[in-house]
Amino acid sequence: MPEDCIFCQIVDGEIPSRSVYEDDQVMAFLDANPLAPGHTLVIPKEHHETLGDLPEDAGSRVFETLHRLAPEIEAAVDADASNVAFNNGEAAGQEVPHVHGHVIPRFEGDGGAP
Ligand code: 5GP
Ligand code: ZN
Repeated sequence: MPEDCIFCQIVDGEIPSRSVYEDDQVMAFLDANPLAPGHTLVIPKEHHETLGDLPEDAGSRVFETLHRLAPEIEAAVDADASNVAFNNGEAAGQEVPHVHGHVIPRFEGDGGAP
């Protein structure tokens, strides 16, 4: 893993995070600068920069986790909907170069997608 990867440091417990879910391959934790209450990031534990770098089994586990968590997170914060999205690569706005999916709860009248 790259020494300076923030999300690898979260996986290793070197940087604290507010855990939403964890298993052998995947972690989900609250975003430090949430765009809405309950804004959650889902990452593979292994370091890969973009979806194109991510092995298929790890990608499947990330998407399974997003699929299961998105409705649970919506319910937990009483949201009406959610944006589930990846900024996949620097030119697409990816700031942390470790694959992560966002679950951003949405509420009627909140202005829609980020
Ligand atoms: P990106 O723009 O790369 O798709 O999103 C990166 C996300 O990571 C941002 O929403 C940002 O708030 C979040 N983030 C950056 N550093 C940390 C951190 O140390 N802890 C947590 N929990 N989230 C972080
Ligand atoms: Zn990493």
